[in-house]
Amino acid sequence: MLLISLLLLSMLFLGIYLKFHKRVPILMYHRLANVPGDRNALPPDTFKEQLDYLSHNGFTTITMQMLYDYYQHGKKLPAKPVLLTFDDGYEDNFSVALPLLIEKQMVATVFPISAWIGKENKWENFNKKPTMTMDWAKLHQWKSAGMEIGSHTVNHPFLPQCSKKSLAIELEQSKFFLETELKCTIDFICYPYGSFNAETIKAVNASGYKAAFAIFDHVPLWQIDMFALPRIPIPARQSLAEFKLKVSSIHVIFIALRQWERIVKNWLRK
Ligand SMILES: [Zn+2]
Repeated sequence: MLLISLLLLSMLFLGIYLKFHKRVPILMYHRLANVPGDRNALPPDTFKEQLDYLSHNGFTTITMQMLYDYYQHGKKLPAKPVLLTFDDGYEDNFSVALPLLIEKQMVATVFPISAWIGKENKWENFNKKPTMTMDWAKLHQWKSAGMEIGSHTVNHPFLPQCSKKSLAIELEQSKFFLETELKCTIDFICYPYGSFNAETIKAVNASGYKAAFAIFDHVPLWQIDMFALPRIPIPARQSLAEFKLKVSSIHVIFIALRQWERIVKNWLRK
């Protein structure tokens, strides 16, 4: 009996491993700065330590386009792929991350908010420390260095709360502004606060995006939804040991854990 149970259990784990080990870890960063109390501001030294770990351990950073071609067309990826994404387009992504990425021949994606380019971070009143976002000149340099840019809407709203009209504006105008100014196609978008619903996906699709990045809420884990790609947050206090797991072949567990945590919290609240 014990032997059969062990056999079934190992088959279950093997099945889960086979199902998920080819998924690409997509990391979500915000600021790179020492800001006590801001869980979205990762100290630059910690970021450097993470890039060192990736480069010394055979990881390859990939672009959103490579991820798209892999999931949609089965195109091959380099060994140990990982996608690095930065939300909101903070200036420190340019001054801290870009030199390190260039030095290590890595690539990353930034999602600037199109009405908040080269401005102070006042799109939300979360008592955050004032800082600037990258201006157009810096975004141009980011792009010329081989990095990618995606949309993060015009004003950073909760998209499911937008009217049909403002939803279309948020999606279409941000794409248009970025494409016009940067002279490239903007194929990918990232949902503010990782928040979206079926209507959002429909509108994102209609606006001409090829894929959209979320966080963990409402993302399916058993199949790939190109308009609900899960990402793993890298918080300010990120140990290297946990980071290693977040880029490993079992990284999907981190998304699942956050989803279960949310389910339990909602259940306790009732
Ligand atoms: Zn954001």
